[in-house]
Amino acid sequence: MLDNLTNRLAHVVKTLRGQARLTEENIAEMLREVRMALLEADVALPVVKDLIARIKEKALGQEVIASLSPGQALVGVVQQQLTEIMGGSQSALNLATQPPAVILMAGLQGAGKTTTVGKLAKYLKEKQRKKVLVVSCDVYRPAAIAQLQTVAGQAGAEFFPSEISQKPVDIALAAIDFAKRHYLDVLLVDTAGRLTIDEQMMLEIQQLHAAIKPIETLFIVDAMAGQDAVNTARAFNEALPLTGVVLTKLDGDSRGGAALSVRHVTGAPIKFTGVGEKLSGLDEFHPDRMASRILGMGDILSLVEEARSAVDEKSAMDLANKLKKGKGFDLNDFKEQIGQMRKMGGLSSLMDKMPAQFAQAAQQMQGGAQEKAMGRVEGIINSMTPFERAHPDLIKASRKRRIATGAGVQVQEVNRLLNQFEQMQKMMKQFSKGGMGKLMRGMGG
Ligand code: GDP
Repeated sequence: MLDNLTNRLAHVVKTLRGQARLTEENIAEMLREVRMALLEADVALPVVKDLIARIKEKALGQEVIASLSPGQALVGVVQQQLTEIMGGSQSALNLATQPPAVILMAGLQGAGKTTTVGKLAKYLKEKQRKKVLVVSCDVYRPAAIAQLQTVAGQAGAEFFPSEISQKPVDIALAAIDFAKRHYLDVLLVDTAGRLTIDEQMMLEIQQLHAAIKPIETLFIVDAMAGQDAVNTARAFNEALPLTGVVLTKLDGDSRGGAALSVRHVTGAPIKFTGVGEKLSGLDEFHPDRMASRILGMGDILSLVEEARSAVDEKSAMDLANKLKKGKGFDLNDFKEQIGQMRKMGGLSSLMDKMPAQFAQAAQQMQGGAQEKAMGRVEGIINSMTPFERAHPDLIKASRKRRIATGAGVQVQEVNRLLNQFEQMQKMMKQFSKGGMGKLMRGMGG
């Protein structure tokens, strides 16, 4: 996802970082490029204008001009402003009320409401140990009710049955009553969507909202809808007091504009993003991490978090600590990481979150056949002794030949792996010294 925007902005970032001096001209040039990149990514025009104005104001400010490396400082400004426009800091789901905490799901048909109900139910159950009830108020499509029942089963949530002969408000009130009597913590209310916004549908959901008084009213929007996503968001925001947004299908070839526009247009924070059709594909939304991702600097914190939940907790913590303390990350760790990546569903699902350089390196290994390439890399590392893995710099010609023979590959492949590993180690070190800021400056320059 976000490939084009990332590529273009990564290019700007790279150019800028090399600038020893900032002038009005090269700042203007940079702003033009950022502006083009945003417009091409379908970011709404008012948002682009606002963003450019903010970056310009900061860029011409003293802190940037007077800093030791103005180009790098300017990259920091761009990242900061991208973060701000997406809401600044993370916004968690609000469940602080007398149970059940009622969450109303609104959005167009096909936006991913029902899928998101399932994902959210699973998230609440597994991450927050909540007892969850789900109900469908879509009385127009019996298939929608059946779909929700299936999803509830997969998520391990309770399902409150409804029928198309009932009224949405009656269904929802009965579900609230059931949840109260059975001491359930959260009620997720799925609603009918239409292909386009129509008045009757808006009226119906307004009445539903007034009757059930949800603590959260989430707007579900398809990130691939581009500019339409913004228009729909505006319409829903006028009809309902939205408390949050879930941006779905960020895995697809979405150009990413919605991620940058929706907050600005609705004032409601993006709380989650959805990726893929599986119920595990829901991520908390962190504006700062998304900004890094958009700038091609990867999302190492999310990666570590993913590792922590999907895999063996202890080794993920070890890695996080190692990164933090700046202890050497050696091939023994790398070997372990590869094994864990396999457990987490393969490389491809992680590519998005890696800094652009890692991802490219992984892609280059054998033109896209990454999983297979990873297997070869693993083979090479397995042929090394633990001592060699801990001291890759001591692997000279004769050791390389032995390792290559052991793994059944050419010596060049061993060389390539060692080179790539060295690059990665350098980046890891930078990351551990100064957090994201340093990493960002160290890369690509
Ligand atoms: P609803 O009409 O709003 O309830 O939408 P659904 O939940 O039925 O989703 C519509 C389609 O989008 C289904 O085929 C889902 O599997 C798919 N879908 C939902 N969320 C995602 C997502 O985050 N990524 C991808 N790739 N597909 C999704």
